[in-house]
Amino acid sequence: MRRVVMKFGGTSVGLAANFAGAQALVRARETRDERPPVVVVSALTGVTNLLVEYAAAPSRRDALAARIAERHASFADEVGVDAGCLTALLAEWREACASHADAGALSPAERDRVLAFGERFAAALFAAGLRDRGTRAAAVVAGDAGLVTDERFGAAHPLPESAAAMARALGGRTDVAVVTGFLGRTLDGRTTTLGRGGSDYSAALVGAAIGADEIQIWTDTSGLLSTDPRIVPEARPVPELSFAEASELAYFGAKVLHPKTLLPAMERGIPVRILNTARPDDAGSRITATAEPGRDAWCVKSIACKKGVTAVTIASTRMLLAYGFLARVFEVFGRHHLVVDLVTTSEVSISVTLDDPSRLDAALADLEGIGRVEVRRGLAVVAVVGEGAPSRIGLPGHVFTLLGGVGIGIEMISQGASRVNLSFVVRDEDADKAVRLLHRGLGLDAEVAPSSTSGAAG
Ligand code: ADP
Ligand code: ASP
Ligand code: MG
Repeated sequence: MRRVVMKFGGTSVGLAANFAGAQALVRARETRDERPPVVVVSALTGVTNLLVEYAAAPSRRDALAARIAERHASFADEVGVDAGCLTALLAEWREACASHADAGALSPAERDRVLAFGERFAAALFAAGLRDRGTRAAAVVAGDAGLVTDERFGAAHPLPESAAAMARALGGRTDVAVVTGFLGRTLDGRTTTLGRGGSDYSAALVGAAIGADEIQIWTDTSGLLSTDPRIVPEARPVPELSFAEASELAYFGAKVLHPKTLLPAMERGIPVRILNTARPDDAGSRITATAEPGRDAWCVKSIACKKGVTAVTIASTRMLLAYGFLARVFEVFGRHHLVVDLVTTSEVSISVTLDDPSRLDAALADLEGIGRVEVRRGLAVVAVVGEGAPSRIGLPGHVFTLLGGVGIGIEMISQGASRVNLSFVVRDEDADKAVRLLHRGLGLDAEVAPSSTSGAAG
């Protein structure tokens, strides 16, 4: 291959047991490929959560500040990297902490500056580790690599010019750039973050910008699995997925990929692989524009589940045969920046699910002007995903019979709009049971023939 992007998540860079393995994977590519890989790293596992707590909780700030500094210094020690690589950053961290001594909860901009320390520490450690082992490498903050964004702190969007800027900054490098995931920078130089789990998205943005041959997401599972392994420990890797399948799964809760990750890859047609740092010879999952359909009778590849969902139903008898009703409802959601996931309509009502209902209260008065509004919280969306699966004759019937058999009620169904996704809404407390039941009932527990694909490191 000519060049790859390798993204290492928090458990890959941030567990001492995996650090050396990750470094070996980078060195192997560096010696084999035409151009050195670009590496993207997340914060050490758990560090972003500590930083989030630091930003929110003035009362515990001193203890957290010390704990974060100590965590990185002792990690350097544990993995045998000279802690000198952290000196300047630790000084900057202490200075930032001193400036927060009398502050309450931090502003969104200052919070992003604080969260950024996690990825900056990780990049410094990873680059130093590579240098110690004789590989030319440097830590690069995403803003310096050209990743410019808008000013939506906490959920920033890359600006269109960032692709060319990243290509200029990273394209011609002959050393290994270890770029901070998760971070961007506004045009006037302030640090932004792309949303939790956003390092996957960073890797895809970098890969698309430099025209990489492959974007590799190195994590703690051997690929994108047939469902969340925290719900079904026997879940198996899905060898091949299409961009559409993987996007739906990421969007509906497969945490292994940030939902936006596949967009840049899809635009440039770059394959994405999900691989296990601790088991680099496992084939993992390969995500491309076209993929083999699922092997089971239903063509289902994986089941995702997103909890904490809110449903809103707006009913109006005046709507019967009236035009403009849906437009009015969506205008209200748009104006209040409410993102709608699933939609079902009947002649006199519309129901939608919202992933983030934090702005719902402000929208309610406007919605009540259109019709009678009912809000149901504590729901979950379950998404059964596979190219062609929703149109398999009998699949919906099979799914709902299985769930009905154990008394799980379906609150909403969305089918037909997507050729890859049959999704429905259940109560939060039924979600895990529904996923377990369907995983077994759709044959995803069954042994599949081992893939002949060779491992990524091979
Ligand atoms: P990283 O730190 O490498 O970014 P994450 O914790 O963000 O890793 O994502 C990996 C985790 O995602 C897995 O350990 C697993 O618990 C969870 N997960 C949820 N759904 C899936 C799925 N379908 N396939 C693989 N992992 C999943
Ligand atoms: N460290 C960030 C987070 O925990 C980004 C990432 O892990 O991708 O959200
Ligand atoms: Mg992640």
